[in-house]
Amino acid sequence: MAKEDYYELLGVAKGATEEELKKAYRKKAVLHHPDKNPGDKASEEMFKKISEAYEVLKDPDKRAAYDRYGHAAFQGPGGTAGRGGGGMSGAGGFHDPFDIFREVFGQGAARGGGGGIFDEMFGGGREGSRDGEDLRYDLELTLEEAARGVEKEISFRRQATCERCAGSGAEPGSKRVTCPTCRGAGQIRRSGGIIVFTQTCPTCGGAGKKVEKPCTACRGEGRVNSNTKLNVRIPAGVDTGSRLRSSGNGAAGGAGGQAGDLYIVLTVKEHELFERQGDDLFCEMPIKFTLATLGGTIEIPTLSGKASLKIPAGTQSGTTFRLRDKGMPNIRTARPGDQLVRMHVEVPSSLTAEQRKLLEEFGRVSGDASEPTSRSFFEKAKKFF
Ligand SMILES: [Zn+2]
Ligand SMILES: [Zn+2]
Repeated sequence: MAKEDYYELLGVAKGATEEELKKAYRKKAVLHHPDKNPGDKASEEMFKKISEAYEVLKDPDKRAAYDRYGHAAFQGPGGTAGRGGGGMSGAGGFHDPFDIFREVFGQGAARGGGGGIFDEMFGGGREGSRDGEDLRYDLELTLEEAARGVEKEISFRRQATCERCAGSGAEPGSKRVTCPTCRGAGQIRRSGGIIVFTQTCPTCGGAGKKVEKPCTACRGEGRVNSNTKLNVRIPAGVDTGSRLRSSGNGAAGGAGGQAGDLYIVLTVKEHELFERQGDDLFCEMPIKFTLATLGGTIEIPTLSGKASLKIPAGTQSGTTFRLRDKGMPNIRTARPGDQLVRMHVEVPSSLTAEQRKLLEEFGRVSGDASEPTSRSFFEKAKKFF
């Protein structure tokens, strides 16, 4: 019998993106998972087929080989793809479909973790431990906070260890009984069809026993949703995209599993005056044309207060001055960057009668273009006149 096309199995187009593949696999895997269809051989078969299809298509190298050679790409010297003994992948074969399932739905999903749809799918009362998920928290900072470092209190919802059962998932006082699915072995053997394998018992998570009565507070999950407050210390010098890891502050594990981590992903807001360029800050400073012409001292805003800057006589618009060490601290070395200040020479847009008179007088005594830039420009321009 010809093997079915991997793309058709997942119900996606040939050019499907990784995300589309994953989505299609998730949908079908949930539908055909053996634990949801006990005793249904056709479903089990389909579960294996879509896992195999997804395993190939999610890997760019395997996918390229499949696109080129079709199923022949995975036929090892031993014949049919994936005919492994006792559960491991055979020559050119495939993995346990439950491994793929776990990979997509998170550690422990195959034995009841993963939350959401799987609460309903697997019910409660399992004994196997499972690790908590990593969580992400997006935090926005001002440029000033990023420059100095800051401590922030954040609050978020996460799965925390259930207090009623202390995370065990068992109703206090309830007995442990031998797992009916594996009869205490902790493992079950699935066979038939293309792949034969053993797997950790999905009912008891390999423990061989299960609790008689799941905890009523957490329905046997060992953890419950709760609000968490946390103080986080943001170091000086962070930038948009910086990630901080808060170890163990993700979702709690179930039944003795490890807690996940919390990742705080930072965004630094745009500043009204300063534009960040790595560790340097950039700003534009308007100055009067008289000051630019005569020279003088101006006050420049910096993140650490005002600084004074000497402007030489004859400063042109666009000239950039560097204020040493007034930039952002480097996140690793703490060495400060510089602040770059570009002069924007302002020409008055309205004049009083007196100003006009004085400027006309100034124009008269100045004569024709005498500055070096103008001189060179007009010499070149002569060729066109
Ligand atoms: Zn509980
Ligand atoms: Zn079991």
